[in-house]
Amino acid sequence: MVNRSIILLPVLFAVSVAAVVLSAPDADSVAVKKPADGIQQALDAFAAGRFNRAERLAVEAADAGTDGSWRARLIVASVRHRAGRYVRAEKSYRRFLSQCQSPSEREYAMEQIRRCRSAAAGQVRTVSASEMLTADRRAKLSKVDNLIHIESSEHFVVRARNSDLAKLLVKQAEIALARICRIVLAGQVYPHSVSIYVWPDVAEYRKHARSAPEWSGGGFSLRQDKTGGFVRRIDLTQLGEGGKFDASILDRILPHEMCHLVLAEFFGDAPCPLALNEGMAMLAEARVDNSRITLAGAAVAGEKKIPLRRLLTINRCKSDNAAVFYAESFSVTAYLHGRMTPRQFHEMLVHIKTGCPLDEAVQRAMYVPRDDEFLKRLTKAWEAETLRQWQFLKVLEE
Ligand SMILES: [Zn+2]
Repeated sequence: MVNRSIILLPVLFAVSVAAVVLSAPDADSVAVKKPADGIQQALDAFAAGRFNRAERLAVEAADAGTDGSWRARLIVASVRHRAGRYVRAEKSYRRFLSQCQSPSEREYAMEQIRRCRSAAAGQVRTVSASEMLTADRRAKLSKVDNLIHIESSEHFVVRARNSDLAKLLVKQAEIALARICRIVLAGQVYPHSVSIYVWPDVAEYRKHARSAPEWSGGGFSLRQDKTGGFVRRIDLTQLGEGGKFDASILDRILPHEMCHLVLAEFFGDAPCPLALNEGMAMLAEARVDNSRITLAGAAVAGEKKIPLRRLLTINRCKSDNAAVFYAESFSVTAYLHGRMTPRQFHEMLVHIKTGCPLDEAVQRAMYVPRDDEFLKRLTKAWEAETLRQWQFLKVLEE
C-alpha cells in the first residue's frame, strides 16, 4: 500500500509551480500501458505544467478503477481547479473525498471544495454601483450646488458640488481601494490618504485638475510638497454628455485612476511596462468590459495583433492601435493574475521594480527554473486562452 500522505506533496508542489502555462495546448498523445504508469505520467505532466495531458492521463487512470485511482481523481480535480473550472473541480474533489481514508485527506479535500465554491461564487457577476442607480437618483446626482460638500473616510477626502455624490464616492473609493490592494499589494493595507476633487464639467476639470494631460473623465497626481511629503490626488468630472451625471466615474474611472496612483507610488522611478500598468488599472475597474476580451481575441486571431514581446515594450500607444493595445494589455494582465496567487503576483511586481523583464519576474515569483523559451511559451498559452475566451463570448452572444 502506498503511503497516501506522500502523494499529496508532489501534487501540491505541482500546483504551486506550474500555473502560468496551464492553458498551453498540448497535442501530444501517449499510450498508457498500465494505470500506475498513467498516474506517474499524469503527475509528471502536471509538474511540467502540461495540464491538458495531465488531465487526460489522470481521467484514464481514474476510470480504470484500480488501487491508485484515488490519486488520479486528485490530479483531475487539481487540474480542473487550476484551470478555473470550479464546478467540475468540485465534483472531482467530491469523488476523491469518497475515497479518502484519513482525516487529513478529508480535511484537504473539504478545503479545496470550499475554495472551488467561493471561486465559483466570485465568477458570478456582481452588480456594480452604477447599475444600482435609479433614474431618479441619477437625476439628483446631476445637480451642481454652489457649495462644496466634503466627505471623508479612512483613506479619502472627497470634495464635490453635490452632497449625495460626495457620500457615494467616498464609499465607492474605499471599496475600490480594497479591491486594488487585493490585486496589487497582495492584501496589504494602504497607509495613505487621497484627496478626490469632483469638478462639475470638462471646462472646470481642465481649469483645476493637476493631472491628466488629456481629458479622459479623470486623472491622478502624485507630487511632493515643500516639506517633502507626498500629495495624492484624483480629479474627476461629475457630468458627461448632455449635462447628465457620468456614472462611469464610479465603476471605471475612479478605480482605474486610483490603481495608477497606487502603482505610481509603488514603482517610484522604476519602470513598469505600460501594458501591465494599464492592465492592472483595467483589472481594478468594478466590471469586466467584455468588449476588451472580444477585441483582444479578434486581434490575436487576425492581422491587428500586437505580439506580446512588442506589447511589453510600448511606452506610449498611438491612436491607431490604442484600442488593441488596451484590450491586449487587459487580457494578458488578467491571464497572469488569474494564474498566480496574490502573493506571487505581488512578488512579480517587486521583481519588475528591481529591473527584471516581465517573463523573468514571473519565473522568479513562481520559483520555476529559468527557461529562455518562457516568453514564447507564455505567449502561446496566453494567445490560446484569449482565443478560447473570445470563442466563449461569441457562443454566449449568439
Ligand atoms: Zn490608464
